[in-house]
Amino acid sequence: MIESTPRVGSAAEIAEELRRRSAFVMVSHVKPDGDTLGAGLALGLALKKLGKRVHYFQQDAVPRNLRFLPDSQFVARELPGDLPPDALFVFGDMSDMGRAGEHLPKLDRANVLDIDHHLGNALFGAYNFVLPDECSTGTVVMHLLRELGTDVDRDIATCILTTIMTDTGGFMHSNTTPEVLELSADLMRRGANKEEITEEIFLNKRVAATKLLGKIVDEMEFGHDGRYCYSYVDDGMLRETGADGEDTEDTVNTLRGQDGVEVAALFKAYDGEIRVSLRSNGRVNVQAAAKTLGGGGHFRASGLTWNGSLSDGIVAVERALVAEGL
Ligand code: AMP
Ligand code: MN
Ligand code: MN
Repeated sequence: MIESTPRVGSAAEIAEELRRRSAFVMVSHVKPDGDTLGAGLALGLALKKLGKRVHYFQQDAVPRNLRFLPDSQFVARELPGDLPPDALFVFGDMSDMGRAGEHLPKLDRANVLDIDHHLGNALFGAYNFVLPDECSTGTVVMHLLRELGTDVDRDIATCILTTIMTDTGGFMHSNTTPEVLELSADLMRRGANKEEITEEIFLNKRVAATKLLGKIVDEMEFGHDGRYCYSYVDDGMLRETGADGEDTEDTVNTLRGQDGVEVAALFKAYDGEIRVSLRSNGRVNVQAAAKTLGGGGHFRASGLTWNGSLSDGIVAVERALVAEGL
């Protein structure tokens, strides 16, 4: 039943809906990360064990460092022509539907399930399972797997541990609670290979990526008594180093990690748009700042797309951060 006021369902209600449907499309957000993809694959693998038909939709290609994930070879940007009319579209790790891109057909809301952990999720589905206290969308999915009674095998465990390690920054961020570590230990016992995930997601950088990081570091600017650091990447820097957008993924953390820096911004000005990544040490709410500029995310990690020039974007972002206490 479609609620007139959107609300978050219980795990039991959502699991019941999953059992009722026969076909699913797991949808990941644009510029996919290990959480959106790992969460969708984990739930997809579990639903297949229940005999369901499962497809994976993602507008962008699977990033090189996530191709080790089981079932990632089935991720496509096309939908099959013979989907039943009540196929359920499961959006994972996005606060609004627009984050899935522009390639999906218009969907009937009755066929939309929103599974997420972002602050300020728009509750855009007929069914919403949004738990902002969870460290990753993958751990939100775990609640559903428990409810479904899924046997968490090695493949599912690998996907879920990848979501956790992605969104906790390899167990470094403040969302790494004792419960997260206990769950991670359980996933390792079930066969998830922490070493492989670490290697794939955090270590094995291309030389081009490291050279690009050098250029970003060269362009760092500091303000607010060293509490704010920002830099940028543009098409020229990508061309000169041979890097691409995937190689920029966690460079903003290097900016935030400089001594004394509380808030960092990286302006990604390439491929015809300017996307901004914001990170905070926990004092300034960068989700609130991003939201005032049409973006979103979490208290300590957020992002937005800036429509305008880079120099105007730099001014606007700093202003929004100052309004949040920078
Ligand atoms: P990123 O800096 O791209 O790693 O994104 C950090 C966080 O901000 C993630 O949780 C994203 O979901 C969120 N985010 C990034 N870009 C946007 C956007 N344009 N709109 C809403 N949320 C965003
Ligand atoms: Mn994500
Ligand atoms: Mn996430």
